[in-house]
Amino acid sequence: MRPSFQPRLVNPPFGDPSLYIPFSYRGKAILFDAGDLAPLSSRDLLKVDHIFITHTHMDHFSGFDRILRLCLGRNKILHLYGPDNFLYNLEGKLNSYQWNLVDNFTYQLVIKATEVTGNQRITRIYRCRDGFAAKGEEMGAPLSAILLETPSVSVTAAILDHQIPCLGLALKEHFHINIIKPALTELGLVPGPWLKSFKEYLFLERAPDTVFEVPAQYTQSSSKRFSLGKLADRIVQITAGQKIAYITDVGFTSENIARIITLAEGVDHLFIEAAFLNEDREIAAEKYHLTAHQAGYLAAVCGVERLTVFHFSPRYTDRYDSIYKEAHTAFLHYRHDQTDPPP
Ligand SMILES: [Zn+2]
Ligand SMILES: [Zn+2]
Repeated sequence: MRPSFQPRLVNPPFGDPSLYIPFSYRGKAILFDAGDLAPLSSRDLLKVDHIFITHTHMDHFSGFDRILRLCLGRNKILHLYGPDNFLYNLEGKLNSYQWNLVDNFTYQLVIKATEVTGNQRITRIYRCRDGFAAKGEEMGAPLSAILLETPSVSVTAAILDHQIPCLGLALKEHFHINIIKPALTELGLVPGPWLKSFKEYLFLERAPDTVFEVPAQYTQSSSKRFSLGKLADRIVQITAGQKIAYITDVGFTSENIARIITLAEGVDHLFIEAAFLNEDREIAAEKYHLTAHQAGYLAAVCGVERLTVFHFSPRYTDRYDSIYKEAHTAFLHYRHDQTDPPP
């Protein structure tokens, strides 16, 4: 199966946390956290229109300035999401610049930012032409866990404890559309951008008798018209959707553990911080971070397929292999035996 999205950490494990998630067929990307974004090209960043910030410690949010700088003067709506106090911190950033010449831009960036707490959800709109003054506040229902819902994917969140509220995030594809290549060939069709529209139609659950046209350059003759349902029956195999979760900067408390399991149970790939080694678990607890051992345990109890650890404390620069080893040893151990959870 060709994955629909291919998440990758922006930085090595001692660098700032950020997960870049490009979609293979839509030319779009999602960002979880925005620390140092230097390794991402401008082209990569311009694909991003939804950014989820776990919390506004600098290592998770300082890269926002680069995104803002890049998107200024573009016809774009940038959607941001963050925990309690997020709008205050975002407005602090937006208010730190002068915007008197923005009328010169042909295109005007719009930022739509949502703050989620246990009690409410507040969305404010910031337009470049207004000097990014907050407008149009919408109060929403309390966090229902779903932050973003599109026909193909959803992003859900859990409010976790890092001495301040910190979002755990999960991205789930509703189902996965596999194109059967030999069936395409049998119909005389060649893969091309038309498959993107075809998949969109399926995700949008258009009626099976909807007429779908494949352009001439992909049919080896003239354009061909199909009924959507019949074409899908011939060339599509539906499988379970791809699921990933991203957990960072959280204490190993019973409440956090329960919420992480609810969010990340059964995901294919878990990205989780492993800031400290087990030998320093008291420091980890004081700072509301996880140890590698705890990260491996959480991956095992969530039943994930694949584990990637990141956000290592700089104190282990010469011992990064110990962190990987500890996390993966715990992951393998607790997969078989969860009777003795970490200290
Ligand atoms: Zn951090
Ligand atoms: Zn933090």
